[in-house]
Amino acid sequence: MKNVINPSHTKELLKQFDFRMTKRLGQNFLIDQGILDEIIEGAELTKDDYVLEIGPGMGSMTQKLCETAGKVVAVEIDKNLLPVLKVTLSEYDNITVINGDILKLNIKDTLQEHFGDRKAKVVANLPYYITTPIIMKLLEEKLNLQSITIMVQKEVGDRIKAAPGGKEYGALSVAVQYYAKPSQVLFVPPHSFIPQPEVDSIVLKLDILSKPAVEVEDEGMFFRVVKASFGQRRKTLLNALTAGNFGISKEQMKEVLNSVGIDEGRRGETLSLQEFANIANKLYK
Ligand code: SAM
Repeated sequence: MKNVINPSHTKELLKQFDFRMTKRLGQNFLIDQGILDEIIEGAELTKDDYVLEIGPGMGSMTQKLCETAGKVVAVEIDKNLLPVLKVTLSEYDNITVINGDILKLNIKDTLQEHFGDRKAKVVANLPYYITTPIIMKLLEEKLNLQSITIMVQKEVGDRIKAAPGGKEYGALSVAVQYYAKPSQVLFVPPHSFIPQPEVDSIVLKLDILSKPAVEVEDEGMFFRVVKASFGQRRKTLLNALTAGNFGISKEQMKEVLNSVGIDEGRRGETLSLQEFANIANKLYK
């Protein structure tokens, strides 16, 4: 019973373990061999790579990861899947399955324990109900990561990779692009999963930058400026920032914007990361 992706094997396993999928845990299992191969290819793995997988499910992608990478650590919250994974991953000796919640796990210690100082790659078909918290945790904790290749809901993926000016560009685009360079690997239709999700999906690769995309004096100030600028989308930048509790008057905020050459009448969604950084650095001073 080796290949999970084979639909008849998947059904046999589900029956054998009397396993019922839990919608609440975002359990939509990938059943398309071609898509799986493209994800693995997109993640650019070799036997030198150490991989962290989030949510292995029944192990379809995990099997491929074990075959392609040097070592794999997979974190799965649902303990009912552990006996299934024991069977589907029995032939591999380079896998460790951890039963736990990725949002509560000390990822830094886990990576250190299993991978030492080697940079890891994250590969995951994410549970959609916690996509953003997982991505932000991976990025903000400044882990020893080289890249993050993830399946996400298309609408969220479009926001992550959006450029300034469009309606998809927002605080999430800026936050991710501060730490990483996103690119789309492939589009994935709902019929590639059981059960089928109600949304389209895309696979994104986030290449972690060796240093943040822009230089900021204080990260807290940078993210406060970003949050305030997008907080009230219908307001001009000047009004949105003035409402952001930076402890300065509207006149002073106008001077700040003037001094960095940004028109006060612009909207937050037109600003580049560099422009947000320029405002934040000025305010910090
Ligand atoms: N990798 C499998 C596949 O591609 O078929 C399953 C992907 S499924 C979309 C998401 C998986 O994440 C499920 O197995 C689910 O139980 C698991 N999961 C959900 N919440 C989690 C959490 N907080 N921490 C770890 N795993 C989680």
